[in-house]
Amino acid sequence: METGVPIKGFSRGTDRPAASWNPPRCGVPDLPTLPDGQNGRNRQKRFVLSGGRWEKTDLTYKIIRFPWQLVNTKVRRTIAEALKVWSDVTPLTFTEVHEGRADIVIDFTRYWHGDNLPFDGPGGILAHAFFPKTHREGDVHFDYDETWTIGNNLGTDLLQVAAHEFGHVLGLQHTTVSKSLMSPFYIFRYPLSLSEDDKQGIQYLYGKPKTDPVPAPTQEAEPNPPDIETNEITNVGSVQPDACDTDFDAVSTIRGELFFFKSHYVWRLRNGKLQAGYPALASRHWQGIPSSIDAAFEDSLGNIWFFQGSQYWIYDGERRVSGPASISELGLSASPVQAALMWGTEKNKIYFFKGGSYWRFNPSTRQVETIYPRRMADWRGIPQEIDAAFQDEFGFAYFLRGLLYWKFDPVQVKVLEGYPRQISHDFFSCAPSSNFFR
Ligand SMILES: [Zn+2]
Ligand SMILES: [Zn+2]
Repeated sequence: METGVPIKGFSRGTDRPAASWNPPRCGVPDLPTLPDGQNGRNRQKRFVLSGGRWEKTDLTYKIIRFPWQLVNTKVRRTIAEALKVWSDVTPLTFTEVHEGRADIVIDFTRYWHGDNLPFDGPGGILAHAFFPKTHREGDVHFDYDETWTIGNNLGTDLLQVAAHEFGHVLGLQHTTVSKSLMSPFYIFRYPLSLSEDDKQGIQYLYGKPKTDPVPAPTQEAEPNPPDIETNEITNVGSVQPDACDTDFDAVSTIRGELFFFKSHYVWRLRNGKLQAGYPALASRHWQGIPSSIDAAFEDSLGNIWFFQGSQYWIYDGERRVSGPASISELGLSASPVQAALMWGTEKNKIYFFKGGSYWRFNPSTRQVETIYPRRMADWRGIPQEIDAAFQDEFGFAYFLRGLLYWKFDPVQVKVLEGYPRQISHDFFSCAPSSNFFR
């Protein structure tokens, strides 16, 4: 899949006029076209070398800081995967180190960061890297202000950008050969693979792998799975959570059914019964849904809102109609939202919860009623911090925290007697946990 510019509104939040907006790109400058230089016009289009290379093939790398949107383990796997496209076709090896010095030093940083090549906030320059045999050899910087994602085009794909920057760190310049990893412009393209030009360039510098197997065309595509969805699963490598022993990220009534969300997975209950085939990947229903959501609700028009970090998405059924957009547009200053509750028979009152505070939100104006939060104590009997909330068909609200839930009476405006109870037992028919009352 290819999209020249990953998403509409990529430059959202900047005041750059649309006419002068440049497509997202790498911050390493292109070489000027020299009449008789390596990059000269008489020369056939092909890979361009920076002039330096590493004198050893076993390289170490270290990650200093991480992007806030992604969990560190996922970033580590992605960095390793991005390096692997280069080590697969050369004798190079890459080993992560956690302390001491490393050959390749990876950092996520913002604006001015000490190398005279400042970043520029969201969009525009995404990353840059320094060539071998230069004074900052081995440094790779990513713009912390990008919306970093993995395996989807909802933001800037870390795998694509990292693999490109590692090409620089190993000694490759930008190429004018289209559809190459070393092209200066960001393109979302899965599966990630080297073009023939990228491969020839890196092998010119380092040679072929030591134990070069008989080159089979299918091997080049590996280790990339065939499509986006599978790719995301592979990147995660996470174990499917057990509904009998987990907390939940979000719960919502959607189209009259109850959906429980946890990391990439969703459980679906109809008339109180867990449906066959669940848990399933949430992305199976809502393609492009972020890997773990903070909150979800369905509004009176049937739009499904998902929240993660400082962003939200809106789906109509299974089709994404907007997002990611910043929750600050809704008048919400605090992120992430911990839970969202659609309450009332009119479905016109939405409540957002975070850390002992809540806000009331009007989905038709798309604004919170006041930016100043109210105290959680208004919800008598509900704990300060909650993970998820939803309303059932009878108008009762449910609040979840950890393995427990509280049922809230809309008439008496307080928690019902006998709560909290165990989520796993009441919704998933699990045996009551013996140490629950300990
Ligand atoms: Zn570049
Ligand atoms: Zn830098």
